[in-house]
Amino acid sequence: MAELQLDHITKTFDDGGDEIVAVDDVSIDIEDGEFLVLVGPSGCGKSTTLRTIAGLESITDGDIRLDGEVINDKRPQDRNIAMVFQSYALYPHMTVRGNMSFGLEESTDLSDDEIDERVTEATEMMGIADLLDRKPSELSGGQQQRVALGRAIVRNPAAFLMDEPLANLDAKLRAQMRTELQRIQEELGVTTVYVTHDQTEAMTMSDRIAILDDGELQQVGTPLECYHEPANLFVAEFIGEPSMNTFEMRVEGDSLADDDFEYPLSASHADAIGDADRVVFGVRPEDIEIDADPEDAHSYAVDVDVVEPKGNENYVHMTFDGAAEDREKFVAAVGGLERVDEGARVVARFPPEAVHLFDADTGRALH
Ligand code: ATP
Repeated sequence: MAELQLDHITKTFDDGGDEIVAVDDVSIDIEDGEFLVLVGPSGCGKSTTLRTIAGLESITDGDIRLDGEVINDKRPQDRNIAMVFQSYALYPHMTVRGNMSFGLEESTDLSDDEIDERVTEATEMMGIADLLDRKPSELSGGQQQRVALGRAIVRNPAAFLMDEPLANLDAKLRAQMRTELQRIQEELGVTTVYVTHDQTEAMTMSDRIAILDDGELQQVGTPLECYHEPANLFVAEFIGEPSMNTFEMRVEGDSLADDDFEYPLSASHADAIGDADRVVFGVRPEDIEIDADPEDAHSYAVDVDVVEPKGNENYVHMTFDGAAEDREKFVAAVGGLERVDEGARVVARFPPEAVHLFDADTGRALH
């Protein structure tokens, strides 16, 4: 059980004289027992952040604290933190039992019986109790991943670090393991930092998500906070599938305008915008209403280009009605039973209460 604090962590690499800032002044307080997911695009610094916590990389600046104690200079094996890798990293010549108990004799003062007991408990928890005498080559990918997780569990660490542990599994197994991992993490109550580039994984598994871009922390919050109240345009576009529709628009009196449409502003929108003359207007695909009242001030005639069926919903790709060649495209997500035909002209409405506004220069959320 432990609280893990990243206090202004910076990590730079020297790349032949060029300085690469992989992690840029990141601070996060991870609560005892919390499941925190680090998410962001490739190269944003997720793995480096995790590796600094594990002690596999030294930090350039800042402090890492485990239950209040600074652990910057502790060796990985002395940190009481267990890491699970995407590659599983099992010893091929050892059995499952050997892989799980390896190192416990040296690093702890547990008796052989106690080690056996821990291994049995962890294998039961992971559903691999009947595989104890097999070698990794005799296991499926999913089973190997369970062994890798079991090996982390037997160490009874203060924290788990996981780097895309489910990335090599097929979609069905991945979905199943997500739920199982969550259950085990909750049962054990071990503080966990989990890295993924998959925002669905981040949204479904975490207590809170930390979103990174270019080494910088963009937002830390519950999945719903990040979805409903994104701190900036990057988070707004990163979280949610399909991505939020965004349009850069001019502020013209009480309205926003671009070459395709004009949007009347509410008093609270106008307040949020202040004296800016340009903003980014955002609306999530699932918030757009189709077949709306054509007289409504927030309704527009649009052409349906493509309907992408997704089972329980359809992604409807649309263009504003008009003669110009380069009309803006956007996408709405509508219920699977709602019939929308390709080539049809429909009325789409952007409800004012669902509109997001961002500073056009900095991307900061205004509303
Ligand atoms: P991915 O999802 O692709 O694994 P990531 O978010 O985990 O990406 P990192 O692996 O942490 O990203 O890398 C962050 C940045 O640091 C990248 O620009 C990467 O090229 C750089 N980097 C990472 N390790 C080193 C290293 N040992 N030497 C030099 N640069 C490095």
